[in-house]
Amino acid sequence: MRLTPEQQAEIAAQARAEQPTKRATAAALEEILYQPLPVLDHGFVRVVDYMGDDAAVVQAARVSYGRGTRRTSEDRGLINYLMRHRHTTPFEMCEIKYHVKLPIFVARQWIRHRTANVNEYSARYSILDNEFYIPSPEHLAAQATTNRQGRGEVLEGAAAHRVLDLLREDAKRAYAGYAELLNEDASGAVLDPGRPGLARELARVNLTLGFYTQWYWKTDLHNLLHFLSLRADPHAQYEIRAYAEAMIETVKRWVPTTYAAFLEYRMNAAPISATGLEVIRRRLAGEAVTQENSGLSPREWRELTALLDRPS
Ligand SMILES: Cc1cc2nc3c(=O)[nH]c(=O)nc-3n(C[C@H](O)[C@H](O)[C@H](O)COP(=O)(O)OP(=O)(O)OC[C@H]3O[C@@H](n4cnc5c(N)ncnc54)[C@H](O)[C@@H]3O)c2cc1C
Repeated sequence: MRLTPEQQAEIAAQARAEQPTKRATAAALEEILYQPLPVLDHGFVRVVDYMGDDAAVVQAARVSYGRGTRRTSEDRGLINYLMRHRHTTPFEMCEIKYHVKLPIFVARQWIRHRTANVNEYSARYSILDNEFYIPSPEHLAAQATTNRQGRGEVLEGAAAHRVLDLLREDAKRAYAGYAELLNEDASGAVLDPGRPGLARELARVNLTLGFYTQWYWKTDLHNLLHFLSLRADPHAQYEIRAYAEAMIETVKRWVPTTYAAFLEYRMNAAPISATGLEVIRRRLAGEAVTQENSGLSPREWRELTALLDRPS
């Protein structure tokens, strides 16, 4: 996460400025407002604005005139009920806006979440930074043998060194080619005044998926929780999960009651099929259920047993 001194000064100035408001604020989120939370080697996620809090969810659900005088436990009960029964629209009353710096391959996964408003840094207009993602050694793993979409054993020794060298060399070469095509360096300085540079919108095609892009990403609390439930899940690729985990910290500070309900009824809960439920009932009744007599496919059986063995 390389921020220039100017960018750091801008963030610090915005964080220092006090803006009196009659609107609800979340004190814990205010503490980190505008601050970049580092993710991966050069990325970050930072909250740049938000609207509403836990009380706004409750207010919307009750269609009330004000913040009300009910006890916190009643509000918690209502939020738990809404989360449990997927009564989702009250959560859409809260909004949050992030500034994210992320590798392009992570952005490609992220952009599939269509229920957000996005404005991406324009590589037609500006020159992309010379920053690319290099996985840290503990994340440098071989292709999984059991799951086509995952990673297996961590690479070590010469194999790991070779991978890192290739990633680094190819990215450096790609950026050098990009600069040559542009005939400009990262600061915009012309390299060879004797020739024209290629248009930025074309020169960027030489860069790889590991280069970083940036965007502003705004969504409501309901859709944010949907995004987090998919992308903070162990099935998601590590790199996008790292962003989701940083964002979960912001949710915890912003709407702590909703966050607790989200952990209870979504993140740490699990959907179980009708046949899976029957297997659990039979087991509770003392029956020795096996995959063969369960009615589940071998894969479903593995998934159910993994779920039941999952540490709490
Ligand atoms: C582990 C994992 C692996 C994945 N692998 C692949 C893959 O191999 N290939 C691939 O292409 N994608 C893949 N995806 C992306 C996935 O298929 C979804 O596109 C992505 O997770 C966005 O989910 P979403 O549509 O629910 O989210 P959003 O776009 O945010 O939508 C939220 C909800 O709004 C509703 N909605 C939004 N748009 C529409 C619409 N047009 N019509 C109807 N309802 C709508 C749906 O209810 C949806 O659930 C993967 C995702 C994950 C988490």
